[in-house]
Amino acid sequence: MVGYVGYGDLTSYEELEELRGLLKLCENVKLKAGEDMICWSLDTTGSFTVKGLKRCILENSLSDPGEVFKWNRLVPKKVNFVSWRASLSRLPTFDALKKRNIPVLSDSCPICGEIEESVEHVFVSCGLAQIMWSIIAQWCNLPSLLILSFRDVMDLHNFSSLPMEKAKILHAICLTAIWCLWKKRNELVHSGIPIKLSTLLEEIKVLGYLWIKNRAKKYGLTWEDWCKFRV
Ligand SMILES: [Zn+2]
Repeated sequence: MVGYVGYGDLTSYEELEELRGLLKLCENVKLKAGEDMICWSLDTTGSFTVKGLKRCILENSLSDPGEVFKWNRLVPKKVNFVSWRASLSRLPTFDALKKRNIPVLSDSCPICGEIEESVEHVFVSCGLAQIMWSIIAQWCNLPSLLILSFRDVMDLHNFSSLPMEKAKILHAICLTAIWCLWKKRNELVHSGIPIKLSTLLEEIKVLGYLWIKNRAKKYGLTWEDWCKFRV
């Protein structure tokens, strides 16, 4: 049985307001024949997928899209993880420890000793980092680099004019370099092992070769080609 409510049936102002509210809610409701179903309103297909939810979160995120960290499958997760934490300034550099009131013997950069240690210093302005990036630029046939921030390192592949696949490999090399430099920094801080530039660069090349050759399925990639960035 279907009943109709007329304004004349209302007995108070509150009921009138409730009816108006209800009619307003029903304004855009279009009834169709067929069974009722549950729809996911954040996707045009009406179906829920994790991928769709992720896209929705990213599209509606309040953070600057430029700050989104780009994960790279050509290197292991642990390697991505270090750069991701660094991009959020969440690595335990001495300045970060001080901010959390964790006592440190000295806040100077353990590599050069010239300035307070921070993510921006260790990976960008420290003398060792500067030499490391300039040698990587030579290796990858890039024009001389002007890296002023950690963000510049993360975006380097986007501005390299390389084809997409090669740019992705360059990004993987940058992530590998950051991971190796942070590992060497930790060995210096925790075990007193001095950092040798030649060893650092060798490690970046060898690990990068092993990871990228297998993960990019470039099984025919020779060491010689790798060392000339003929990828
Ligand atoms: Zn330094």
